[in-house]
Amino acid sequence: TNVIELEGVVKRYQSADTPALGPVDLVVAEGEAVAITGPSGSGKSTLLNLVAGLDRPTEGRVSVGGLRIDGLGERGLARFRRERIGMVFQFFNLLDDLTVADNILLPAQLAGTPRAAAAARAAELMAVLGIAEHARAYPGRLSGGERQRVAVARALVNRPALLLADEPTGALDTASGHEVRELLLDLHRSGQTVVLVTHDLALARSCAERTVSLVDGNALDHSDNRDERDER
Ligand code: ADP
Ligand code: ADP
Repeated sequence: TNVIELEGVVKRYQSADTPALGPVDLVVAEGEAVAITGPSGSGKSTLLNLVAGLDRPTEGRVSVGGLRIDGLGERGLARFRRERIGMVFQFFNLLDDLTVADNILLPAQLAGTPRAAAAARAAELMAVLGIAEHARAYPGRLSGGERQRVAVARALVNRPALLLADEPTGALDTASGHEVRELLLDLHRSGQTVVLVTHDLALARSCAERTVSLVDGNALDHSDNRDERDER
């Protein structure tokens, strides 16, 4: 089964004569990890926003996790994002007034998961990601690498079909960046479907078996990273 299917997808912003994206066809199978790269302005955010259900295409079909989302209204998209997508951002986007545990629990609460089940899931993720000792701390006390681990736990709490990561190592020092790369690779190995938007070639090579390169809104190159990755 495919987690992402884009068919003839075009995104045109008002007043622009050339599309910001497309037409693009893209399929990501369950369990795959795909990196999306390209220079500034090439359409990476536009593509990510369409897949995340943050925006709708001008033309074409977008299916994610088996759900056709290009025709959904605002409420349907909000529900889709809550239930099927986990997102990780460059600057973590954690809520500084909530503890680590409460940040991770929040999406489960918004999805209506029973309290005990949500707490068990959060505890499991904090243990796996090595942040259990920080459960009652506030994000401001943690290092960048630790904060990104919290963000990954929050992204996974509802068991999303797809983990989307937008420059997840972009704000981290070398050591923390390495830590987060290893974490994403572990998640991929455990079967999580991952799409990364990144300039970090080390991240693309270590974690993704395919790289989709965007140039002027067109997906030009679907190179195979597996050989390089397997040499590590
Ligand atoms: P990237 O993420 O690769 O930097 P974007 O997807 O942000 O690229 O941008 C692709 C193109 O679409 C650029 O030419 C950009 O100026 C344009 N664009 C992006 N967002 C908007 C918007 N909200 N309104 C108008 N044009 C936009
Ligand atoms: P609205 O016009 O109120 O925004 P949508 O067209 O987005 O509604 O969605 C219509 C209905 O489809 C929703 O009220 C909901 O019952 C169902 N729906 C939307 N998204 C999902 C989803 N991710 N999973 C299951 N059902 C959904």
